[in-house]
Amino acid sequence: MNLINGKEVAAKLKQDIAAETASWVASGGKRPYLVAVLVGEDGASQTYVGHKEKACREVGFDSRVVRLDAGISESELLEVIEGLNRDAEVDGFIVQLPLPKHISEQRVIEAISPEKDVDGFHPENTGRMITGLDAYIPATPDGILELLKYYQIETSGKHCVVIGRSNIVGRPIANLLSMKGYPGDCTVTLCHSRTANLKEVVRTGDIVIAALGVAEFVTADMIKEGAVVIDVGITRVKSDTSKNGFKLLGDVKFDEVAPKCSYITPVPGGVGPMTIVSLMKNTLKAARRRSAK
Ligand code: NAD
Repeated sequence: MNLINGKEVAAKLKQDIAAETASWVASGGKRPYLVAVLVGEDGASQTYVGHKEKACREVGFDSRVVRLDAGISESELLEVIEGLNRDAEVDGFIVQLPLPKHISEQRVIEAISPEKDVDGFHPENTGRMITGLDAYIPATPDGILELLKYYQIETSGKHCVVIGRSNIVGRPIANLLSMKGYPGDCTVTLCHSRTANLKEVVRTGDIVIAALGVAEFVTADMIKEGAVVIDVGITRVKSDTSKNGFKLLGDVKFDEVAPKCSYITPVPGGVGPMTIVSLMKNTLKAARRRSAK
């Protein structure tokens, strides 16, 4: 069994992005500028945004967090987004999800200019991505592709089973792995909460991507010998043994699944750190694209 070390890969890729940014800026390019919009006080969202700010500093980007009250109306938030769309200094921005219930996430996503949509959630970017055109690829699926590439994991002709069909993870990674060329050329099965005989289907996967958000859902009897297992899930559970009182669990029962795998990602330290790197990659791409205009 080989452990996929997302922390190590992310650190290496961040160094590459930092070096690329330094030479871009030295040659007169505009320093990439990422803005994160944070609505409300959600603890996990604050942590994620904090990690994104730190990553920006590490790779040499400018960044800013726009903090908004949880009670902000949808139209007020849409005005903030319009302002960021127009702001010539801003290369890319994200609106941290989830949003308070009274705001439509879909309307917010569609209000972001596709050119600044470094999360890659706008339907224009989704459409471009699935037709194989240049696009911002959503960060988590892109991070998974980077891990497969880094470990040179064969994908051509493999049966990839994705569990979870969200627009953020499951659906895009299923699409990307079916694309022509490496890391793609997979035969993909996309499973979800209505899939019949899920265990049997997952057991046929050469590559299994678990992105359903149910802690330790994937057990050893669902995995075939030698499979590659990518665990996207993050569930916070209370823990008496950890300092901060909680621990993170993936969607895979790691201890019993790992011995059967050729490669597996841990939680934490697998896909998680890669997501931020891919956001940095998209932001640098946004800065370059805007200067080329
Ligand atoms: P989501 O809730 O939007 O989607 C979950 C999907 O799983 C749904 O399509 C649903 O049909 C499917 N599902 C739910 N229960 C199922 C079951 N019992 N059997 C089969 N399918 C089932 O979630 P999401 O945003 O895609 O996130 C999934 C998980 O990945 C969460 O734990 C989330 O925290 C984590 N996540 C991690 C990262 C990262 O950087 N590592 C990024 C995004 C999401």
